[in-house]
Amino acid sequence: MPPASEPPVVSRARLHPDRIAILDGDRRHTYTELLEASERLAARLLDGRDSLHGARVVFDLPAGFDYVAAQWAIWRAGGIAVPVSPSATAAERGYLLEDTGAEVVISRSAHGDGLPRIDPRDPGERTATALPSIDPAAAAMLLYTSGTTSRPKGVVSTHAGIAAQIGALCQAWQWTAEDRIPLFLPLHHIHGIINILGCALWSGASVETFGKFSAEAVLPRVAGGAYTLFMAVPTIYAKLSQRLEKGGDEPAIEGFRALRLMVSGSSALPPTLLRKWRQLTGQTLLERYGMTETGMILSNPYEGERRSGTVGQPVPGMEVRLVQENGAINEPGEPGEIQVRGPAVFQAYWERPEATAEAFVDGWFRTGDLGIREDGYFRILGRLSVDIIKSGGYKLSALEIEAAYLEHPAIHECAVVGVPDEVWGEAVAIAIVHGGPDGAPQLDELRDWGRERLSPYKLPRLLTVTDALPRNAMGKVAKREVARLFPGPAD
Ligand code: ATP
Ligand code: MG
Repeated sequence: MPPASEPPVVSRARLHPDRIAILDGDRRHTYTELLEASERLAARLLDGRDSLHGARVVFDLPAGFDYVAAQWAIWRAGGIAVPVSPSATAAERGYLLEDTGAEVVISRSAHGDGLPRIDPRDPGERTATALPSIDPAAAAMLLYTSGTTSRPKGVVSTHAGIAAQIGALCQAWQWTAEDRIPLFLPLHHIHGIINILGCALWSGASVETFGKFSAEAVLPRVAGGAYTLFMAVPTIYAKLSQRLEKGGDEPAIEGFRALRLMVSGSSALPPTLLRKWRQLTGQTLLERYGMTETGMILSNPYEGERRSGTVGQPVPGMEVRLVQENGAINEPGEPGEIQVRGPAVFQAYWERPEATAEAFVDGWFRTGDLGIREDGYFRILGRLSVDIIKSGGYKLSALEIEAAYLEHPAIHECAVVGVPDEVWGEAVAIAIVHGGPDGAPQLDELRDWGRERLSPYKLPRLLTVTDALPRNAMGKVAKREVARLFPGPAD
């Protein structure tokens, strides 16, 4: 089959030339404007060459028109797009530039990286340049994992893989050109890039970009009926629900009520939060599960029952199996490692052939997450490396214990980890952020309270009270840092 001549997203954009793609502050940009700006920028990147042939191009632009124009320009020039957070520290940025071996940077400001820089606003010379033909199997994007379990790994996705990730979600969540969505999540992680930006632009829909999440900026737009869809991480829903509970945001509540879909993901959605959000807005959040390496894997249904504490069923095109430690494929109802296969799964970790080889078994990708399937719905028990606590011969799910303790009236947030213990192997340790009027609960009290909800061996043996849990840019709790909050050999 001859290679398609344009990146799939670009061909899709041609279907909706005059629709508004991006609302960026006061500015509205059509798909045609995006096509033109990305073509000009691609020509500047090529600078007379026929193709970038997979060169890595780093871009560090805030969410908005320039970001998308840069992403498409890199793709159209045959390069690999490497988004970096504009607020990355010098060390994070340095790691990324070094690890990717980037050739050029697209940025609005000079960082002293020692690499050639292109400013996307600089008009450049208007020359007619033929853009290369793009092979769907070519590498298109290099995204770094969140670094929750170890140093962030570069994940290489192809144009076809990205199209498969986006296509599955557009189908599962019934995206159309009429959709409008706010985007306030970071644009160097899959959630914002694929689930929001990718799906919207694939569908001819409109995205309103915000530099970061701010209730002050987003709620009036929700109240004004600006959106049809809303996607966020659990920490944002938690912040919003605290605010809505206080009263005074009734128009925004009505705005939320009118949306066709609200989605949560990137970390576990506590059942308490799902309930609270439903009470406040009438919306049942759709929880889904996925990762940088694969795009979305499991999703609660768009139509049909969304089951609290679960992440639903495989998205279109994704095959999922649960596998025991000895490699045996599980019967329904038994926990096992989630392994997946399908066209959306990534190609390789960037320049980490060993990590890539370890990550696959018989063509199935090992997610490193433990799950269980009950009644057709998958439940995530947590990461094998940090959320599955091996204590007294049992394998405990930190996520299950956290969900139980979030029901406690004096616990605002919590994180459960295993810390080394001579007797138990690992002891269940809980870090809590205390809420409510009274003093923080003591360990004995928490154990007594837990007895009604959890088996005795799941009750915490160590407690620490903290002002805030350590979290990364996606609001994910950094479990290794939590473990360090406990004294003793955990260091
Ligand atoms: P690293 O791979 O560098 O340790 P990471 O796995 O957090 O970091 P991502 O690819 O951004 O990097 O996140 C994917 C992970 O997020 C999944 O493997 C899973 O553990 C977690 N996750 C995503 N959605 C959910 C969800 N709905 N419930 C529970 N966990 C989730
Ligand atoms: Mg991971």
